[in-house]
Amino acid sequence: MASKDKDRTLSSTTKDKHGKPRISHPIYNILFVSSESHPFAKTGGLGDVSNSLPKALKALDQDIRVLIPGYPFAIQKAESIHHVATISLPKKGFPGDLGLSSKSELSSEPPPSVAILETELPGSHVKVWMIESELYNRPGGPYVDENGQEWGDSDRRFALLNYVAVEIAMGRTSLNWQADIVHGNDWQAGLISTLLEQEHSLKSNKRPATLFTIHNMAHMGVFSRSRFDDLQLQASLWNPHELEFHDNFSFIKGGLAFSDRVNTVSPTYAKEIQTAEFGYGLAGLLTHRSDRLCGILNGIDMQEWDPATDPMIEQTYSIETLADKQSNKSALQKHFNLPQNENVLLLGMVARLVYQKGLDLLLDNIATILSLPVQIVILGSGDSKLESRLKQWAVKYPDKMQIQIGYDEGLSHLVEAGSDAFLMPSRFEPCGLNQLYSLRYGTIPIVRNTGGLADTVIHASRENLDKNTATGIIFHEAQGSTLFEAINLASLLFQDHTTWQKLMVNGMQQEFSWQESAKHYLDLYSQAIEDRNKSYSTSYSTKGIRKN
Ligand code: ADP
Repeated sequence: MASKDKDRTLSSTTKDKHGKPRISHPIYNILFVSSESHPFAKTGGLGDVSNSLPKALKALDQDIRVLIPGYPFAIQKAESIHHVATISLPKKGFPGDLGLSSKSELSSEPPPSVAILETELPGSHVKVWMIESELYNRPGGPYVDENGQEWGDSDRRFALLNYVAVEIAMGRTSLNWQADIVHGNDWQAGLISTLLEQEHSLKSNKRPATLFTIHNMAHMGVFSRSRFDDLQLQASLWNPHELEFHDNFSFIKGGLAFSDRVNTVSPTYAKEIQTAEFGYGLAGLLTHRSDRLCGILNGIDMQEWDPATDPMIEQTYSIETLADKQSNKSALQKHFNLPQNENVLLLGMVARLVYQKGLDLLLDNIATILSLPVQIVILGSGDSKLESRLKQWAVKYPDKMQIQIGYDEGLSHLVEAGSDAFLMPSRFEPCGLNQLYSLRYGTIPIVRNTGGLADTVIHASRENLDKNTATGIIFHEAQGSTLFEAINLASLLFQDHTTWQKLMVNGMQQEFSWQESAKHYLDLYSQAIEDRNKSYSTSYSTKGIRKN
């Protein structure tokens, strides 16, 4: 362990109810690296997880620091943000042209440097470090510009995140902190373990252990050979067993090949990505590393998503006051200009409007679905073709379907509270958070049997209804007709007030806090550290991918 303080390498001790010290778990210095962290930056579930998991780890006494890019909108949202360090990036092996002050290894100028700004995750003492750089200081989002076009230099934007992470993790900054474990998330943090492996091979440089979490395999950070050269990555990494990916190179491959441990955000998705359908050309590598790969279900922020206290909804409610949920339904119908009818099944959806989310399945059968006694409200943005097809149907059936294009945190809470059922017909879903929010809000999830949806929803089969374990409706084939059958079943169950109430209560009684999942992450960190330690004495395959 690379900690400064040796005592911390033992264990944290808490007191049991008799006041006696009780050994619980080790305390690590964790550098949590992500391209998003709510509320500073969020485009999807990664932003939520990069807020709530660090908070849950902090509650387990961990010394966790979150590192994200200093997007202008993120800096603006941060309270008491202040400069804490200037990090000089090593000229050697560091990409020359990252839009930083010094450009060339041969230059006589000082090394390129970036500023680190510090703030905290609201409502916690989790320190957040933001990298201030010209590469981030422009209008637009994390991944797209103001016109919704992908940034042309995402490789450089996120390579910077990776290089800065390495400097901090190795304790080579004036922050007076170094990491025992670096937890990288998604492709934007995929090169960290590759770069740290190079430190490791210098023998004298003991590197931190690494965990890489896949939140979505569909995004792999693939760039051309010339970008690889521009980033001055070590030439030997260009081979099919390491970073090369079909004549290009991929950030995520670095994370998968070089991290001590790899995980994804549900057990079912961990299996799915080892198949051709969900592995996107990397199923072989994932299978090769299967004994280092596992799935840990995401939790939810139980404070932020609590119908009993949620300030963003019309009327708070709980299992004891379920009837109060109805005010939220009326408010939601009103917001979307739909008839305020409590007997019609109100279906809600909040999502990135992309192929993954299965909106085409809904569109395939929309006329038949809308012939049922249902209303549909959709909040989201994404693919412009999907957006306009959905809008066309809303124009055609204004009393039955409405859509709001855009991102609206407050409205997303009202959709969860006001809908009777929540639609997630995803083609794949690494974990999915909205079905978890739905369960907590007594809103019945209608989901496809994939990834984290399969792991968290219990189908309303006759048997499960009899056993009183059912929490939602699951359909299997990714087809419009099967989605229709699922909605039809929901519509029938909705007529049976007692059964519907049971489903609501069963869902609300489920436990999806981060507490347990955070403990699993702690175990994974310990395993990663053990693997790192072993790897000092273990040889590597000639191809560079670790022999497990
Ligand atoms: P993914 O990460 O694939 O987008 P998840 O279900 O894991 O899907 O997480 C999505 C998160 O983003 C949820 O918190 C959801 O409420 C939020 N979200 C998605 N689109 C919007 C939107 N248009 N407005 C507000 N919140 C949104």
